Amino acid sequence: MQQSVFDLMQDLGHEQLVFCHDPHSNLNAIIGIHDTTLGPALGGTRLWNYNSHEEAIIDVLRLSRGMTFKAAISDLNLGGGKAVIIADPAMKTESLWRRYGKFVNSLNGKYITAEDVNTSARDMEYIALETTHVTGVPHYMGGSGDPSPFTAYGVYVGMKAAAKKAYGNDSLNGKKIVVQGVGHVGQYLVGHLVQEGALVSITDIDEKKLKQTVDKHPGVKVIKNNEIFDTDMDIYAPCALGATVDSNSISKLKAKIIAGAANNQLAVEDEHGSLLIEKGILYAPDFLINAGGLINVSAELDGYNEERVRGNVEKIYNRTLEIFALSETENIHTQAAAIKIAEKRLRDIANVKAKL
Ligand code: NAD
Repeated sequence: MQQSVFDLMQDLGHEQLVFCHDPHSNLNAIIGIHDTTLGPALGGTRLWNYNSHEEAIIDVLRLSRGMTFKAAISDLNLGGGKAVIIADPAMKTESLWRRYGKFVNSLNGKYITAEDVNTSARDMEYIALETTHVTGVPHYMGGSGDPSPFTAYGVYVGMKAAAKKAYGNDSLNGKKIVVQGVGHVGQYLVGHLVQEGALVSITDIDEKKLKQTVDKHPGVKVIKNNEIFDTDMDIYAPCALGATVDSNSISKLKAKIIAGAANNQLAVEDEHGSLLIEKGILYAPDFLINAGGLINVSAELDGYNEERVRGNVEKIYNRTLEIFALSETENIHTQAAAIKIAEKRLRDIANVKAKL
């Protein structure tokens, strides 16, 4: 790592990083608490076989910062947090989840967890045995279950807003859309797109996921992962991991719109956000349009009502159009415009809280 952890925390504005270790359950986890101005830090736990501890630290720092902006722009009274567990996804056990649950509990509600990549409602059930600071637990335990359908719905709504801006109307009928990653979110997103008559291509590193998707939606075309940026498309929907939008992919990309679920899609925010503007590619900010899952799990905290959640997720449409307008009037890239709105709410509420 070129910078020290504290320098990185300073640059990105973090409050706290919590390192958790337990040799018996093979647990190595890092909880990142970015900003609690608006409320307790809520964000999922990602389980990933990171190549190095540095990689895991950078990931948790970037992901937890994104959660602060996601909650702020979605009008939620939540702070930004996220956790990563460094492990092989095949090796997750009850004891790992329960020990991790105890660590979450030790933060007394400052951090509330949920699902993320390689974690499921079943895993949240184990965590819930050790702490109440967990959301996304199964329906039969009084939770809202897997948040992915709502994340996918929000991405779909945000993608339609981007189509409205780029094409003058929001229909996705006949649009060539490539979905990269057909996991929890990607699969539901494909369902919405197919239903609207889009011409969908998919790619994934997991053959099983590809087969599942094609079995469900036989009209969908499979493309190789390394062909993605050479493929003719109108819309690129990154729904796997982050940082796929970089100088190399932007130079090849044939899409007019990027709108997907993955967090931190821009490898280097300012550099690549500006490059997309230069290339005339409309980027729907990730933390704005993938907020549906957070909106859903956060509703567990104040009395879950699915209809209200759906209505709140649909607000992503107008908010996305507002961000595009701000980007144009202020001549800034769309991610910067979204951050500007989120930071303004953080400042305004901090000011309210500081007063008697
Ligand atoms: P998931 O693990 O269920 O699915 C990810 C899929 O991407 C898997 O099928 C995996 O095989 C595939 N994949 C991994 N690396 C790939 C690569 N290099 N190329 C192609 N495919 C690859 O995760 P998910 O819950 O569907 O989340 C997808 C993304 O959306 C993640 O970045 C996540 O942080 C983000 N996100 C998810 C939610 C949610 O509600 N699940 C909410 C907000 C953001």
